[in-house]
This record gives sequence, C-alpha cells and structure tokens, in this order.
Amino acid sequence: MKRVLSWVVPGGIFLAVIVALILGWGPEGLTAMLGTTYPWVAFGFVLLLGAFFHRSRVVLFVFGLSAMVLVFPQGTSDPTGFFLVGGLLVVSMGILALSQDRGVLSTGGLLQMMVFLVVFFFGMLLLELAPGDLASFLALNPLSPTWSEWSGLPQPVFLAFAFAIPTALLAAFFREGPVERGIFWSLLIVALALRYSSDPGLVGFGLTCACLTLGLSVMETSYAMAYKDDLTGLPARRALLRDLNGMSGEYAAAMVDVDHFKKFNDRYGHDVGDQVLRMVASRLSKVPGGGRAYRYGGEEFTLLFPGKNIRKTLPHLKEVRRSVEDATFTLRSWRRPRKKPVDPSAWRGAGKQKPKLLSVTISIGVADSSGRDPSPEVVLKKADQALYRAKEAGRNQVSK
Ligand code: GH3
Ligand code: MG
Ligand code: MG
Repeated sequence: MKRVLSWVVPGGIFLAVIVALILGWGPEGLTAMLGTTYPWVAFGFVLLLGAFFHRSRVVLFVFGLSAMVLVFPQGTSDPTGFFLVGGLLVVSMGILALSQDRGVLSTGGLLQMMVFLVVFFFGMLLLELAPGDLASFLALNPLSPTWSEWSGLPQPVFLAFAFAIPTALLAAFFREGPVERGIFWSLLIVALALRYSSDPGLVGFGLTCACLTLGLSVMETSYAMAYKDDLTGLPARRALLRDLNGMSGEYAAAMVDVDHFKKFNDRYGHDVGDQVLRMVASRLSKVPGGGRAYRYGGEEFTLLFPGKNIRKTLPHLKEVRRSVEDATFTLRSWRRPRKKPVDPSAWRGAGKQKPKLLSVTISIGVADSSGRDPSPEVVLKKADQALYRAKEAGRNQVSK
C-alpha cells in the first residue's frame, strides 16, 4: 500500500485530475479559471527548491516548462513553437533520466545546463529563422501515421515521448528515487498539455502540476535522506526515534552490535568493514516475527517488534543471530584498502591464493515495554544493558 502511494502521489493524482478536466468533469469554466492561476509562482518556488537541494534535473525541467509557457501561442493558433520546445524538453529529460542530479553550480550540473541551453538555443534559433521548415519537420511522418494518430501529437513529438517515457519509467523502477518518479509523471502531464494545446487553461494548469510534481519529489528525497542510512539502506536513528515515539501498547526492542568489529576493520580495512555492515543490515532486515531493523549508528543496529514481548521475540532474535553467523562472504576486492591494514598479509598474494572466506558474529540484548516505565528511552537503555551482558558472557548470543 505504502509503495503504491509513494508511486502515485502526487504525479499520478495530478495526472488523474487533468484527465478528469479534459473529460469535462467538474464545473463549467474550471480549466479557464485554473489556467489563470499564474504558473510562475510554482516555477519560481520549485526552481529555488531544486537549486537549494542540488537537483539539477529538476531545475532544468522547470526551465523547460517556463520556456513552454513563454512560447505558448497566445491568441495565434500556430502551435509550432510550443511543440518544438515541448519536444526538446521531452528528449532532454529522457536522456537526463538516465543521468544523475548534480549541484546546479557543480561542474557536472553546469555541463548538463550547458547542453540543455545549447539544444534550446538552436531550437529557438530555428524557430526564429525558419519557422516554415520547422512546421514541415513537425509534419513529417517517418512511421506510418496510424502509429501516432491516436495520441493527437505530431509524429516527431510522439517519437520524443516514445523514447522518453519508457526511459523515465525504467529509471524510476530501477533507481526507486522520488525524482525519477517525478520526471516520469511530469512527462506524462507534459504530453497531455501538448495534446490539448488548444486549451490555454489546461496547459497552464497542467504545466503547473508538472512543476509541483517535481517540487514535491525534491522534498520527498530530502525527507527520505534524513530518515535513511546511506551505507546500509536501513532507516536511520531519526526514523527509530520517530517510530519509538509512535509506539503504543506492548513492544520489544533489541540492540544489536557486531562483535570485535574494530579488529575486523583494522585487519581488512574500512571498505571491507562497510561491506560487512551492509551484509549484517541485509540479514537483520529479514528478521522474522514482524521486526523492523534500523541502523542505530556505527556497527550498532536496533530491531523493533511492535505488539511483542521478550518471550515472543527471542526465537526470532536467535534465528537472525544464527543467520549472520552462517553468512560467509568472500573478500570481493583484492585491491589494497585505502587505509593501510595492520595485517597486510591478508592482502598479499592477490590472485595466487584462494579468496578468503570471512564471517562475523553479532550480540543482541532485548528488552520490552512490560516494566514499570515503558518509555522508549528506558526500554532502549534496558536493551543496551542486556547487550552488555551478552558481550560479557562471551558474545555471539542473545541476552535479555
Ligand atoms: P565489541 O565486540 O565489544 O563490540 O568490540 P568492537 O570492536 O566491535 O567494539 P567497538 O565499539 O570498540 O568498535 C566499533 C568499531 O566499529 C569502531 C569503528 O572502527 C567501527 N565502525 C563504526 N562505524 C563504522 C562504519 O560506518 N564503517 C566501518 N567500516 N566501521 C565502523
Ligand atoms: Mg559498538
Ligand atoms: Mg562491536
């Protein structure tokens, strides 16, 4: 459910509203009214938001949307410029969907902007110097007209979408980023704006919605970044505190700590240490019994079990402890680690000897909310004390 929501909010909702308006649902004259709501406020706001959060692609997309509004045929009925700018924007965003967001003023960001501006500059130049040629270009049908007729778009513009929308969709699927999803939905909305270019209200409203979709995707990314741990992909401590405070009724919390991790780091280097943390995180995230895993910090993790007490969580914790112990992993890279390890022999003879099989163990301490004080701080503290006992008793075990 949450996944579906994260996919369709807000881009899908906006798209549905626009489709409803196109179908003539809602009160008479609504689109004309919406179209007069000036899109520039939204453009300006999202432009700043994108620049502030280093989302170069969002900034460029908003530039493109502004250009579309600027060339929109006010009073005249010649949509050539509108189709040209729309088409250029769509192709550029299709390509950029495969790339990454940069800081607007970073080298990569400036480079993206340069390419974008050059493409638009020549497009506009063409429009200025040879509008007739451009119109005949838009009238070209390299494929049979039946391919694109249903879309109501000139075939070159249709082909731009045929490239960009699947590309953006694939990027959204494989990268799972809110901005990728935002680009996908915004492209669909731009397609509708181009298709219904005879309705100024719809165009203004549509382009504003495309812009807001991008803006919200920037906010969603920043929110997600604050609550997600970069290294392991698990929710971070901030998310743990948020969820703990929202906990009501019975629950159990377990503190998890990797055993002798400092030695492991010193011996194999920090990069391998990071690899181990990812492996442990992946095992913990699969803990049975409805447990949720968080990275508490460093090599420490927390598992939360809503609605469970210590007795009910113990078997699950023992299982996850065993699963980490059983997970062997090979040294993936035989490069020397960045920081010189204390034991270089572990790295020498690269390629000659069999790759080393490594494994780690974890200790777990668990507590629940059944005590006199069920507040999150107290439960976590008790779990930490239990963890200490697990370490004292020889590590690689679960203590309560
Ligand atoms: P114990 O069994 O008592 O827990 O021993 P330990 O060595 O695991 O305990 P200690 O807390 O002394 O060491 C934790 C080490 O974890 C220190 C640091 O080198 C390492 N560490 C913390 N965060 C990270 C990280 O993000 N990546 C890597 N590679 N290492 C980390
Ligand atoms: Mg520790
Ligand atoms: Mg440790």
